[in-house]
Amino acid sequence: HRIQDCFNRPIASRPSAIISVLERVSFDGNKTMSVLGKLSNLEDEKIALSYQMGQHYDTTPDGRVVRKCLNLGSYNYLGFADDWDVTCRKDVMGSLDNLPSSVGSSRLEFGTTTLHRRVETIVASFVGKEDALVLNMGFNTNATIIPTLTARGDLIVSDELNHTSIVNGARASGAAIRTFRHNDASNLEFILREAIVYGQPRTRRPWNRILVVVEGIYSMEGEYCNLRNVVTVCKKYGAYVYLDEAHSIGAMGPTGRGCCEYTGVDPADVDILMGTFTKSFGGMGGYVAADRRIIAELRRECAGSAYHNSLSPVVCQQIISSFQVIMGKDGTLIGSQKLNALRDNSNYFRMRLTDMGLHVLGNYDSPIMPVMLYNPTKIAAFSRECLKRGLAVVVVGFPAVPILMSRARFCISAGHTREELDRALKELDEVADLLKLRYARSTFG
Ligand code: PMP
Repeated sequence: HRIQDCFNRPIASRPSAIISVLERVSFDGNKTMSVLGKLSNLEDEKIALSYQMGQHYDTTPDGRVVRKCLNLGSYNYLGFADDWDVTCRKDVMGSLDNLPSSVGSSRLEFGTTTLHRRVETIVASFVGKEDALVLNMGFNTNATIIPTLTARGDLIVSDELNHTSIVNGARASGAAIRTFRHNDASNLEFILREAIVYGQPRTRRPWNRILVVVEGIYSMEGEYCNLRNVVTVCKKYGAYVYLDEAHSIGAMGPTGRGCCEYTGVDPADVDILMGTFTKSFGGMGGYVAADRRIIAELRRECAGSAYHNSLSPVVCQQIISSFQVIMGKDGTLIGSQKLNALRDNSNYFRMRLTDMGLHVLGNYDSPIMPVMLYNPTKIAAFSRECLKRGLAVVVVGFPAVPILMSRARFCISAGHTREELDRALKELDEVADLLKLRYARSTFG
């Protein structure tokens, strides 16, 4: 509205990609959330809810309906975001007594504490690199590290479905950008060969550097990266590899070390490993891990680190505690149990959805499960029907995905119990009938 006032001209608002019928959401701790709906007819809504969900609803003093929903949409893969007994209560709550909530300074000023360095050392050793740099936001990491690594005269070759933060970073770099077909290493090879043969447009000079950017798990597809083939092709043409592990670190591989571990690729063959702490680690912030020389350069040059308030020490403590549990440093097997639970829950949920005849995208072992709705008119209906049944699910439409590829996206957590998943599946079976979503069954008879 302020922008409109300034320029005195109405601007058509861009539709939101993640379409939400939720008005306000609050987490009630373990896996549930309260959702304040903005459905119009409250009386009908109340009756429907009391009929369907018994105690699963409540009303606010102004008479609005609050639903208790099973959270099937957050990236809380290992459950660390609300696992009070494992990480938070012990260390993080303790750290609140001793540490400032903010350092009030950027990394190059007073914003580097021993905790920041500890996180960097742990991350580097966890992913198998010499050093790491921690930034205060995952989005900021891609958006400011990529322009620090590349400039005019360089070529960025990006998977067509890469995250917006990568797109922003690539655009800000001044480098030329080409995209390759999603997860298609032969199309990547075609583009790299062409880039080597023809060089830069007009001058025909060779590119200074070529950076290939891929993701460990694609967040709208639930698919993991074809990393082996990507690395082979990049080696052949001398291109650098940048891997965004936002969704795969702490979620993939027998010990949670991400896409390299899962696909059997040596981390030395991936030049830059990027990731975030907002998903499996239940914290905030992002990192890049690479050779010591590259990290030293990024530490000095990256504006997103040098000019941005650094991560809260309390959050650093949360990240360290999560890593220690995953690596079994607390002497327990809780980390590996959580990783196994995540894999079992994900594969169980995926198999049951597929058996129902729903068209589920992505690979086995991936905790992200997009279920195709196709028709955009089903988006709001799906979300509403799920909410009525006590399920909070993210629904996605244009422009995040093509208009006729609308979908609902489930994110499974190690914290979900089998009973909760079974209850969700039972409700989804009804929603599938109601909205005629059994595309896979009708296709294959
Ligand atoms: N990269 C990818 C692939 C993502 O999906 C996201 C956000 N979901 C980010 C980067 C940004 O991370 P953050 O939310 O931690 O800022």
